Amino acid sequence: MNKEYDVAVVGGGVVGCAIARELSRYQLKVVVLEKESDVARGTSGKNSGVVHTGFNVPKGSVKARLNVLGASMFEGVCTDLNVPFKRVGKLVVALAAAEAPDLEKLKTIGDANGVPSLEIIDSKEVKRMEPNINGYAALHVPTAAIICPFRLTIALAESAVANGADILLEAEVKGISGKLGAFKIKTSRGTVQAKLVVNSAGLYADHIAKLAGVQRYKIYPVRGEYVIIDKARSDLITRMVYPVPPKGGSGLGVHLTPTIDGNILIGPSAAYVRSKTSDGTTGAMSRQLVKEARELLPGLNPRDVITSYAGLRPKTVPSTVGGFNDFTIEEVPELPGMMHLVGIESPGLTAAPAIAMDIAKWVGTHLPLRGNSEFHPQRKVHIPFNELEPEQQAELVDSDPDYGQIVCRCESITRKEILDAIHNPLGAQTLGAIKYRSRATMGRCQGGFCGPRIEEILEKEMGVQPTDMSLKGDGSWLFVGSTKGLRG
Ligand SMILES: Cc1cc2nc3c(=O)[nH]c(=O)nc-3n(C[C@H](O)[C@H](O)[C@H](O)COP(=O)(O)OP(=O)(O)OC[C@H]3O[C@@H](n4cnc5c(N)ncnc54)[C@H](O)[C@@H]3O)c2cc1C
Repeated sequence: MNKEYDVAVVGGGVVGCAIARELSRYQLKVVVLEKESDVARGTSGKNSGVVHTGFNVPKGSVKARLNVLGASMFEGVCTDLNVPFKRVGKLVVALAAAEAPDLEKLKTIGDANGVPSLEIIDSKEVKRMEPNINGYAALHVPTAAIICPFRLTIALAESAVANGADILLEAEVKGISGKLGAFKIKTSRGTVQAKLVVNSAGLYADHIAKLAGVQRYKIYPVRGEYVIIDKARSDLITRMVYPVPPKGGSGLGVHLTPTIDGNILIGPSAAYVRSKTSDGTTGAMSRQLVKEARELLPGLNPRDVITSYAGLRPKTVPSTVGGFNDFTIEEVPELPGMMHLVGIESPGLTAAPAIAMDIAKWVGTHLPLRGNSEFHPQRKVHIPFNELEPEQQAELVDSDPDYGQIVCRCESITRKEILDAIHNPLGAQTLGAIKYRSRATMGRCQGGFCGPRIEEILEKEMGVQPTDMSLKGDGSWLFVGSTKGLRG
């Protein structure tokens, strides 16, 4: 392992991975230090996956600039990385006449930010576009899009690695010393030296800053819970459906978001929580989400919920203040050579490619930016087996019998795809890493059928002992020991 780098990026979320990929366009030695067993395990894997257009961020804010720029880059980035991107559009729905002026306000902000083609539509048009939706009027946002946030983060990381960057997983940053040109970063996997440091640690950006002696930041976690609706009900909506945002609130309101893979997300809620690890979900909130969603979509049945998850927003404003929280992206005078990205909440996913360009410019103020002639923006991937025509599937089965075995029945994932996921370029080998790369375990049965089969493949093919198998690394072991002599 090369332990001397030009730039060390702390945090393997979508922002850190986008930065690493952007920097790999240049002749720079770059490393991403990530404490978890895979990338996208923080907020980047637990959000709505929406490419926001920027109609609701105040003009002149850092967020507005990076949101609009990031959104304009997104389709190109997804095409290069072979990550699905769907411009499904969005309706922000006023349920009653009293909410209609809010739509005008959002349109005015959006027009000022340069968001194209916004229009207010009446209830008849709402029904024509989304027959299952209730609404008095709506703001139509045709350019809004959806992506899969963890697949994008993984793709950015893989592209960065293919272009020469290193990604160190399970490398928790525990100390930062030194100065511009000569930082020493102590991690749980040894010490790394770097000329520049980028603090892209999401919820923990305040902690990473403190490790380096910068005391000025404080992050308040705000939990957003979701429930996921079965694919069988994907026909309920064709585009995103949002309510008018709650006034002075911490989020956009409980919305309905179709996912790339055909589910519908309901959420997120918004509640300040004490701990940065409070990302569990609650039955009470799941019921509340379905109740609120049914105001927009009365045909929704609570029995269509297959599972739930939650993400934490890294707010820089406490609950007593509330309101707008801009991104903070700065190199502070007390520590030149270290860039801090703090409060990168929504639309941080959308803004990630634009943030990465800003960081590359900043790196250029300290180090020469010479182009990497070997940089390849494109990333090759196999088309998922379940998306191929029967003749193409038959050809693959002939070429490799592992395509002939379906391991995950809900999502139709083959043994070959599980093996490809296991042999990923980042070397991530948990059940979670396989799930996020192949989609196995994400269907209606949530791994009841394929979980044991994947564990068998891990044991047979990779020699991983059951007691060493985990969902997401240390502390999330799948097995604690054998029972009744079933094993050994
Ligand atoms: C509920 C919710 C919904 C959202 N919806 C959207 C949306 O639809 N569209 C959109 O544009 N944005 C959305 N966002 C915002 C978006 O998810 C975030 O802005 C984005 O994921 C932030 O990425 P990040 O890389 O900065 O942070 P993270 O993904 O949190 O990455 C930070 C990484 O740093 C690592 N780390 C922390 N401490 C250490 C350490 N000591 N050593 C090493 N590594 C460390 C963490 O493990 C983590 O992987 C949403 C956010 C939430 C919470």
